[in-house]
Amino acid sequence: MDIKDFWKVKSMEDFTEAEWESVCLKCGKCCVLKSFENGWALFSNRVCDGLDMYTGKCSRYETRLCADCAKVDINLVRDLPELLPETCAYRMLFEGKGLPQYHSLITKDDESVKKAKQRVLDWPNVHSSKDIRNELMSLSEKSLKESWSLDKLDEEENKLFKRYPVVFVAKYPIPGKTQLPNQMIIDLKFEKSDTDI
Ligand code: SF4
Ligand code: SF4
Repeated sequence: MDIKDFWKVKSMEDFTEAEWESVCLKCGKCCVLKSFENGWALFSNRVCDGLDMYTGKCSRYETRLCADCAKVDINLVRDLPELLPETCAYRMLFEGKGLPQYHSLITKDDESVKKAKQRVLDWPNVHSSKDIRNELMSLSEKSLKESWSLDKLDEEENKLFKRYPVVFVAKYPIPGKTQLPNQMIIDLKFEKSDTDI
């Protein structure tokens, strides 16, 4: 077997750093703001402001261990796979499903995830929280945390949230779980979307 097929012969714990990184689809789905309710992981159309909305990649990958980002390592995949979408390559490998067929390690095509429309940028009506953060900051001196609380929004700010509505665009089951910790949850009122999948 070709050594390039390391994911088929090595356990995830034994991946080198380079191998671990190469498994990531760079789909950005783990950067989506989400909520966990009644046994479902609900993925919104709002993404972390670190996600570059042109490339679909993290703009601060080296220092991403900020308050709203958890590093995707073997511990997270093993202990809290539900934090990741079912299509996450790490989760799929961990669950014994192998890599998805559109993975560039299989296709040898760096664009194959994009072509398969599996990047979060391909989800409908996706907005960066940076859009809102920048506009909110230009309106007031409030801290971001305060600004996220809808109860405290003034009329101008409420208009902004209407311009960037938060909807669920994906829904994944959480077997046996109803509540999970998530550092990326923000206190927003979510609207149900017809595009739930
Ligand atoms: S900081 Fe974390 S959650 Fe935000 S875009 Fe980067 S990897 Fe994704
Ligand atoms: S969801 Fe998984 S495969 Fe996609 S960017 Fe996040 S860690 Fe990588």
